[in-house]
Amino acid sequence: MPKATDTCIVCDAGKYLSIQKNLDIETQDGTHVVVPHVPVLRCDACGDEIVPPSSHSFVDRYVKDATEQLTKTDVQRLFTGLDRTQAAVTEDLGLGPKTLTRWISGSQHPNRAMGFYLRVMAEFPQVYTWVKNRTWKTQDAELAANRGSGINQQIYRYLDLEAVSAPLPLTPGANHAVAFRNSHRSVSAAA
Ligand SMILES: [Zn+2]
Repeated sequence: MPKATDTCIVCDAGKYLSIQKNLDIETQDGTHVVVPHVPVLRCDACGDEIVPPSSHSFVDRYVKDATEQLTKTDVQRLFTGLDRTQAAVTEDLGLGPKTLTRWISGSQHPNRAMGFYLRVMAEFPQVYTWVKNRTWKTQDAELAANRGSGINQQIYRYLDLEAVSAPLPLTPGANHAVAFRNSHRSVSAAA
């Protein structure tokens, strides 16, 4: 990696000068972040620019803060304690074949929404287990098998599914409206 005053590796004529530049970084989901005052090397002949490794952590940190992004270090830390291979994690989470490798190498970062999802998994490891085990399949089967029993009537009512035979109770708001209407009516009748 060249440094200031070295000969340019592209044109082999100019010399690299250390300058500061506003770097426009495009994230994976298309968001642009302008990182101000990044030290870069620019060739004084051909204009080739190099972001030296010493600037990488500054840029990474700035973009991470601006987009609430998970860095490769965050991703690595997230999966270190899992005792799962990368292939297994890829299958567990339904990721694309190269996604995890890119996150871990830092060539890509989880997009914002995925970052939130991964944070939830880090905070609540049972979420990872729930997804890994495809628990929704078991739950769907159990709900179907128990359809009609008392406790599941409650669950179906809660989930607003069609298995409820009894009418839904009036909401508090509706009761309030009925009470108001009745009291208003009795006042009118008295007047
Ligand atoms: Zn050059």
